[in-house]
Amino acid sequence: MSIHKHSSDEAVARNDGPTKASLSVIIPVYNEEQSIPDLLARLLPVLLSLDRSFEIVAVNDGSRDNSLNLLIAALDSLPNLRIIDFRRNFGQTAAMMAGIDHAKGKIIVAIDADLQNDPDDIPLLLAKLDEGYDVASGWRKDRMDAAIRRNFVSRVANRLISWISGVHLHDYGCTLKAYRADVLKGVRLYGEMHRFIPIYAAWMGGRVAEVPVRHHPRKFGNSNYGLERVLKVVLDLIVVKFLDRYLVKPIYVFGSFGALALATSAVTFVWMIAIKFAWGISMISTPLPLVVVMTFLIGILSILLGLLAEIMVRTYFESQKRTHYLVREIYSSEFEK
Ligand code: UDP
Ligand code: MG
Repeated sequence: MSIHKHSSDEAVARNDGPTKASLSVIIPVYNEEQSIPDLLARLLPVLLSLDRSFEIVAVNDGSRDNSLNLLIAALDSLPNLRIIDFRRNFGQTAAMMAGIDHAKGKIIVAIDADLQNDPDDIPLLLAKLDEGYDVASGWRKDRMDAAIRRNFVSRVANRLISWISGVHLHDYGCTLKAYRADVLKGVRLYGEMHRFIPIYAAWMGGRVAEVPVRHHPRKFGNSNYGLERVLKVVLDLIVVKFLDRYLVKPIYVFGSFGALALATSAVTFVWMIAIKFAWGISMISTPLPLVVVMTFLIGILSILLGLLAEIMVRTYFESQKRTHYLVREIYSSEFEK
């Protein structure tokens, strides 16, 4: 391995062995000064033991403590470290998205900065990908967070997500996951959506596996999240499900309804004519002509509405190309800017 000589990109590009895909490890960092030295010290031997090229993409999500300086200090000893420094705090999902946007590896691993995830579990996840899965999702079987505040609530949230999404995992919220980078293509994450990556992947035909991983209590500081996150997660899930999943083709929904209305109009019209010719009974003074006209107009209007919605959905997806974060600076050992 030549990682000590080369820059992060070169390390990824040159050491991309014939069998083992290159790896990008994404770490979202928000006020983690007490964990960073320990984290990097524990992560590095694991990554070196993998026998594949790797880079670390640390995203400093507007930390107000010394996190950024500690990361910058680590650049000297870690040539394949890249630091994406946000202008302010944008949240863990934005940090993950930035990491994914900047990652060069064919495999992406995300891990918490606070050492609640165990770097030693990374090889387990990679082994799952080597088995042919596209996503290996960490499952914190023994969750080490405060009982009621996190464990109970998240159990309910996980059930709900499983039920709504139709993609059945035990633990969506675990940051420690490994992905093939190509299943993330086109996925834009915002709000709380980083935890839905396996769901997106499954919807796109990806194979998803869950791998039990260790979980440690937070040693320093507090969780940056509270109860309101569960509500946000559920609301985001509804957006994901109905905007990204079903309203991708609104013309199917509005168009089918419109076609049904037009068919009703036509059948009613033909029936009126038939009765007139067969039995000489005029239907003109019944409500039927009104039904014909109304269903005809409703049919035309809903098809037009479908077209309009189609335009809006396209604009919506187009607008998702903008990033949901702002980068102040990118640091890497070779002064890449
Ligand atoms: N994090 C972040 N931005 C935020 C909040 C958290 O980048 O606004 C990072 C944080 O530094 C950690 C990970 O996301 O690496 C998980 O955060 P936390 O430990 O607070 O969440 P929990 O473990 O309670 O789910
Ligand atoms: Mg944590």
